[in-house]
Amino acid sequence: MKSLWNDADAAQHAGPLGARVYSSRLLGREKSLVLHGGGNTSVKLREKNLFGEEQEVLYVKGSGWDLESIEAAGFAPVDLAYVRRLAGLPALSDPQMVNELNTHMLRAGAPAPSVETLLHAVLPHAYVDHTHADAVLSVSNAPRGEERIRALYGRRVVVIPYVMPGFDLAAYCARAFREQAGPETIGMVLLSHGMFSFGAYARESYERMIELVSIAEDDLARQHAWAIRLPDARPVTVARETLAELRRAVSAAAGAPMILRRNAGAKFLAFAQHPEVARLSQRGPATPDHVIRTKPVPMLGTDVAAFGSKYAAYFARHAPQAKDHKTMLDVAPRMLLDAAIGFVAVGHTAKDAAIVEDLYDHTIEVILRAEALGGWHAVSERDLFEIEYWDLEQAKLRRAGAAPAFTGEVVLVTGAASGIGRACVDAFVRRGAAVIALDRSAAIAETAKRPDLLALQCDVTDARALAQALDDGVDRFGGIDMLVLNAGVFPATQPVVDVSQDAWRAAMAVNVEANLRLLQQCHPLLKCAPRNGRVVVVGSKNVPAPGLGAAAYSASKAALNQLARVTALEWARDGIRINSLHPDAVYDTGLWTDELLASRAKAYGMSIEQYRRKNLLGTEVTSRDVAELAAEMCGSLFAKTTAAQVPVDGGNERVV
Ligand SMILES: [Zn+2]
Repeated sequence: MKSLWNDADAAQHAGPLGARVYSSRLLGREKSLVLHGGGNTSVKLREKNLFGEEQEVLYVKGSGWDLESIEAAGFAPVDLAYVRRLAGLPALSDPQMVNELNTHMLRAGAPAPSVETLLHAVLPHAYVDHTHADAVLSVSNAPRGEERIRALYGRRVVVIPYVMPGFDLAAYCARAFREQAGPETIGMVLLSHGMFSFGAYARESYERMIELVSIAEDDLARQHAWAIRLPDARPVTVARETLAELRRAVSAAAGAPMILRRNAGAKFLAFAQHPEVARLSQRGPATPDHVIRTKPVPMLGTDVAAFGSKYAAYFARHAPQAKDHKTMLDVAPRMLLDAAIGFVAVGHTAKDAAIVEDLYDHTIEVILRAEALGGWHAVSERDLFEIEYWDLEQAKLRRAGAAPAFTGEVVLVTGAASGIGRACVDAFVRRGAAVIALDRSAAIAETAKRPDLLALQCDVTDARALAQALDDGVDRFGGIDMLVLNAGVFPATQPVVDVSQDAWRAAMAVNVEANLRLLQQCHPLLKCAPRNGRVVVVGSKNVPAPGLGAAAYSASKAALNQLARVTALEWARDGIRINSLHPDAVYDTGLWTDELLASRAKAYGMSIEQYRRKNLLGTEVTSRDVAELAAEMCGSLFAKTTAAQVPVDGGNERVV
């Protein structure tokens, strides 16, 4: 592992916390050191208070911040002298510790200080860095891990056995540091947990971390344990329905719709097919704090009920010995390994599932390297339970607040690159849904990269491309709950006598046939939706009130409208609701250029502004208005409604 320190970059970070921010970000960039909040850093500064008195302040990473993107505001300032006194108490409960830390901060509104704050406080050095380095975990979780660590580092590190984070660990480390540390000591290994380094300057502490982790990496290489060895994976194909049914079962066990993210890449698939996968995967996570996102072990195979019973038994084994009363969390797996599927990460959101996948990506490497040293072991099940049910960890998850309406649900939107479709993507993302966004335009690729959005270029009239897009979407999110049929074409205006066969067929192909195919392909998925499937059809004012010269468009939208009504009749028994909305005069879409708008306004003898509001309410109808209605039609407001047709047009005399 190489130091990424660069003086010019470091100089960009000004202020007393500048160097602390910079080197924290360097650690955060290296995923084999720090994953998703799994590390923390601090600095001790002397500052003057309003009375001119000098005071030592510990700035420690606040919870909710990732090292990779941390800013000065992400560090919580605490009264160092006070926190050190706390660490010297004979005992301190978790709620007391949290209360004392939160009431001894020096900036209102600062984030809650890390649960490892006391440990940072008891170390005497100005800069303290802490990571859960993969290489160190591989060595310490191999047979005779402590012996190996001591042999590798000698007196350069203090070695701490596994102790649960919090007051006890800080008190233990304070004692051990006093007893074991010498002038050559630059770090501390917490067995089965991670590595600390420290120094007088940010660069010193950071580069010591790199040096200490490199020692473990080099040792793994010397022992031929660095390169990951996996048998070749046998390719697998999984039917979309299989994943959707699995998702329904997992969601039922979780008591909420869940996102399932499948990975059948070479490493994950080969691990899932490993002849000894049961032995390798069922011992626990690489580092105990993963357990709050992953649960102790992955589910092997697809028997969700059996996993749930095993999880309940695990809870029953350990809850009675806990210090305070515990309530069992949901019994759904967060990870699945199956030879015929690969790896599946499970989360309440697409982001959660992506994090789980990241954690296991590293876990596979940590396990296989420790195996190459003679055998992988994790901390005891009891220790894992203590972390999984630790109030302070559960509080981190609770802080997220109330979940948006469509959390854990998946929507597919067609024609998603512009206009109403694009506004629909935003409306559903705001409500917490994961979105599969399809458009035939390459512009769809410019959509923001985020874990809850899968943007695919796809012509919905191309059956093969559509099937591929559905495969990709279900692999990424596990199923489809909601469908917004938005893609459509508006052929050039022609009187009936002049309508060309081509224009007619094009309108029917996109506006009717492609939607029929999409409905057919999605029916088995919508049937599996944990909260029942919903379809929204973007119709047109032209259905109830067709316009001159729009024969192909109006006829195709009317056909789509009848298709939606028949589908509502047939699918009601599956609990699937289908509602249509009929927009009119939505001018902020790709169809309407400024010139076109100007010429239409002129034809009516109106200004553009008057033309835009040419409806009963005299109001402008935007893409966003239509998209909000589409999203609401999938929500609880329309829970008892199917086959409705709702205008969103500002009121139209011909429709009324
Ligand atoms: Zn830690």
